[in-house]
This record gives sequence, C-alpha cells and structure tokens, in this order.
Amino acid sequence: MKLLQLAEHFERLDGLTSRNAMVDELARLFKSIESPEEMREVVYLTEGILLPPFASTEIGISEQFMSRAIAQAAGKSVEHVKELYRDTGDYGLTAEKLITWPGEGITVHQAYNALLDIAKTGGRGSIESKVEGLARLIHRISKKEARYLLRVPMGKLRLGVGDPTIMDGLACAYDGRRNLRPVIENAYNLCADMGLVAGILLSEGPERLKDFRVLLGSPIRVELAERAESIDDIVRRLSRCAVEPKYDGFRCQVHKNGDEIIIFTRNLEDATHMFPEFVEAARSIVKAETAIFEGEAVSFNPKSGKFHPFQVTVQRKRKHLVEAKEKELPLRLMAFDCLFADGLEMLYQPYTRRREALLKLLGEGNTIAPTDALVTDSAAEIEGFFNKCLNAGFEGIMAKSLISPYMAGRRTFDWIKFKRNYAKEMRDTADCAIVGYFAGRGKRAQWGIGSLLCAVYNSEKDRFETITKVATGLTDKDWKDMKETLDAARVKEKPARVESVYKPEAWVEPRYVTEILFDEITRSPSHTAGRDGGRTGYALRFPRIITPIRADKKAEDATTVQEIKELFAMQHQATQ
Ligand code: ATP
Repeated sequence: MKLLQLAEHFERLDGLTSRNAMVDELARLFKSIESPEEMREVVYLTEGILLPPFASTEIGISEQFMSRAIAQAAGKSVEHVKELYRDTGDYGLTAEKLITWPGEGITVHQAYNALLDIAKTGGRGSIESKVEGLARLIHRISKKEARYLLRVPMGKLRLGVGDPTIMDGLACAYDGRRNLRPVIENAYNLCADMGLVAGILLSEGPERLKDFRVLLGSPIRVELAERAESIDDIVRRLSRCAVEPKYDGFRCQVHKNGDEIIIFTRNLEDATHMFPEFVEAARSIVKAETAIFEGEAVSFNPKSGKFHPFQVTVQRKRKHLVEAKEKELPLRLMAFDCLFADGLEMLYQPYTRRREALLKLLGEGNTIAPTDALVTDSAAEIEGFFNKCLNAGFEGIMAKSLISPYMAGRRTFDWIKFKRNYAKEMRDTADCAIVGYFAGRGKRAQWGIGSLLCAVYNSEKDRFETITKVATGLTDKDWKDMKETLDAARVKEKPARVESVYKPEAWVEPRYVTEILFDEITRSPSHTAGRDGGRTGYALRFPRIITPIRADKKAEDATTVQEIKELFAMQHQATQ
C-alpha cells in the first residue's frame, strides 16, 4: 500500500464524527491490505504508535529534532519552523505548509521502517543522524503524507479512533459484520498487541485467533474489579469467596523466561528498570522456568516492616531515583495471581487452582510473597478481615470468585473491590480523563488555568463524556505544573472522541487521568456522561482532585460510564 493511500484514509477518518462511519472507513482500509506485515504496520500507525507500549525500544523524536529535520528538508531556518509550529500547534501541518515537492510515492512499509529506524537510533552522534534521516524521509513524502505521518512519532495523530473502534473495523473488514469482534478482543486481551492480532487474522484467519496462546514477554491485559455496595452485597454476588487485602501501590505483571525477567505496569508498559529487587527475587525464588504472575508493589519501612501509603511508594517511580530509593524505600511485591507456570496457561483455571499454583511458584523470601487470603461465605468474617485490613493501613479488600478464570482485559463482578470510602457514606473516587481547562479568576487568572473539564470513558462508543468541572484539590504549584503538562496535549478544537456541552478555553487531547474524590453522583443537563438519547447526563457532586495525574493510567483506563451508572444505582439503593 502506498503511504498516500493510507493518508487519504486518515484524512477521511479525520472528517468523520459518526462511529459507524469510522468503523466502515477502517474496514475499507484494512480490507485493502495484502500482507500481514503491512497490516501490522498500518494498525500501529492507525493507533498513532510505532510499536506497542510494552516494547522496550525507546522511541525518541523530540520537538527539537522534528523542527530541525523539517527546517533541513525545506531549506528554512529552525526559527522559521518553530514560528510556524507556534501558529499551527502541529508538526504535521507545519511540514505541510513548507513542502513544495510532490513526493516519491513511497509505500507504507518504507515510511514505517524509515521512521522506526530513526526513532530507534541512539548512542553517539545519533542526534545528527536522526535529524538527517528524518529530513531525508520528509523529502520523499508529499504534503498530505507528511500531515499524518509526522504526527505519529510526536504522539499526536488523533484520528478519534480507539481500540474498540479499531477492533470493530477489523471484524467488519473480515466479513462485513462485527461478529468476529469477541474473537479479536480475546486475542488482544492476551497479548495487548493489536498489530500482531490483525496480522494473524489476515494471514491465518479467525480459527488461529481462537487458539491464541499467551506469549511470554507480551503483557496480558489486566483483570479489573467492580465495586460492591456492602459486604452483604459481596456475599450475595459471590457466595463463598476469597478475600485478600487491597494493597495500594503499583500493579506489576512479572514475566519470567529462565533468567530473563520483564515487569509490566498497570498500563502494560515495560518498567523492569524500576524494580531491580523484583528482578533479582524472581530469578532466585520463583520455582518455575517460565511464569507470569501479578502482584502489587508496595514500599515498606525496613525497620518496622510496615507498608507505606501510596503517596510514599510513588516516589520510587522517578527514574533517576531508583537506585537511591532502593535502600531507603524497599519494595515488596504482594503476589495475587498466577497466569502461567512452566508452560501451562493457568489463566483459564479457577481462582483456587491459580492460588495453589501461585503458592507453589513462590519460594521462601519476603521480597515477593503471596497476599493473605481468607476463604469464607460469612459476611461477619469478611467484615472482621476488612477491619483488620483497615487497621493495618490497607485500602480495603478484594473479594474474588473461587470458580471464575482470570478475565483478561475485563472488569466483572468476579473481582470486587471494597474500600474504606464505601464503608462510610457515599464518598468515592473516579479516575477522569482531562479533556480541557478553563482560565481561572483571581490569583489563578495569572496562570491561565483555574478548573479542569473532566470526562469518563464510554467504552462501547469509544467516547469521552464529560462528568465534572473541578477546581479544588490542587496546590498553587500543582496548578502551574498541570498547565504545563496539559499545554503539551492542547489542541485547537474539541478532540473527535470528546462529547461535551461545555466549551473550555483550552481543549486537551484525552491523555491524562486525574483522580477525583466526590460525595455523590447527580443527574445534570450540563454533562454528557451516560446520556442515552436524552438530555441529562451524570455529574459528580463536590469534586476535589486527590491525585493530579495518575501516571499509571491511559485515558481509556479512566472510570467508565457503566461504572458511574452502577455507582449511581448503588447510591440510590443506599438512600432507600
Ligand atoms: P482499576 O480498577 O481501574 O485498576 P484503580 O487502579 O483505581 O482502578 P482500584 O479499582 O482501586 O484500582 O483497584 C484495583 C487495583 O487494586 C488492581 O489493579 C491492583 O493494582 C490493586 N490490588 C491491590 N491488592 C490487590 C489484590 N489483593 N488483588 C488484586 N488487585 C489488587
């Protein structure tokens, strides 16, 4: 496929707002692809990435490189390019304005590989060769191709299509309907690599996808928990179940293949470098040649052995501090699931079997240890365990079905979280994608930011629907940092996937997630969350930010509209 053809598909997608029309356009695009390799490349480019997020390859093309490369290709000064960029806010459009040549008609494969090589180039003298390589590539492409291709390495393609829409597009390309969506989704949940799944669908068909196996080194999309309104509700839903402490740290998925250890975060990025002690422990105490298991990393006080709250653990996240903090803030991995052991895919087994496998997997040692687990059907016993967990400083409990398999990539009532907050009145938190901000009044006017427009994710529609305007919870410094962060994702118009009645002063591409505490969910005509045809959405009452940016979440990991509806129903029952 020629790059120009792909750019034309992207241009059409760019102009669409209806999701069905987007799915049809994607289906047309995917149908015209002939080789699995090209399919993989096209899918990544459509996702706006060069490689899946878990690939450990550093993709590094900074704004500075891009400005220099465009300047070099166009024979203009870097200042001139930067000035144009200040106007357009987009390197794709900047290059488009400067390109005067027709392009050589290169293929997607040529463009993708050139870009990937440039992005991967590292080491001495790499800056010059990167700039030159990029300038050469720009010289070979036309205006329209540049508009879309150059947005990819800058993380700014923004076609308005997320995973669910791409999966529907693939299913539709296969047989004109969306029947294959569950098969595609299941394989995607097992490897988190849409390009790989799409390539297999093209070359070997859906039967092969139905047999898709877990791959060591490719993260399994994580299982997530629903909320219960009370402990009785947990027992009603699960009967006899396992309850474990809910630790408040970072989720880690550890892959062991002999001595090779890879650790993925909650949003499936490779964060092995952050956890040297787990790498060491996984090599020495895990009693299997190959294994995949999950746990929560929590820092603790080496003198008292007590776990720290999340705000302390999070300090380990800063890359340059890993070494210094390793001694000061040692981590423990509280392991809670075993998904693969010695060649066996454990994730299809019920909890009880997986727990047995987990206990068998872990040898003596404190650095990686299994969570406590109580198996019971008594609400009173669960309540006792919950109170014990709160006294020990944990967030709450996780109750788990004894009979269900691991539901990769799904949020179901097989896992139920019950936190301190729900134990009191209805106070809860939502993780919201920031989609815009309003200039402030008074002191904040000087900073140009005073409140955030936030949205929850509608995974069925692949849309971000607004649920609150929030102006409290941040310190002066937080607001300044927030503006700087958001300005890097600022866009001129409402992003295609955002549904909003409000028009903020600045629109922001949904990329950052903020954690908001609220008292209640109300119905509101001003917000679009959960509007089904009618004019009333859901809104958060008394919102205040408690974590400015949840670095471990992508926008699509924000609280979903479905969860908001469930919370609303729960709160209704509680007041009846
Ligand atoms: P999400 O449900 O989207 O992950 P979140 O990141 O805000 O939301 P919670 O919903 O509060 O987290 O709880 C789920 C998380 O709890 C898991 O992702 C995991 O990181 C953590 N966790 C802590 N202890 C356990 C446990 N015993 N079993 C499973 N998960 C646990």
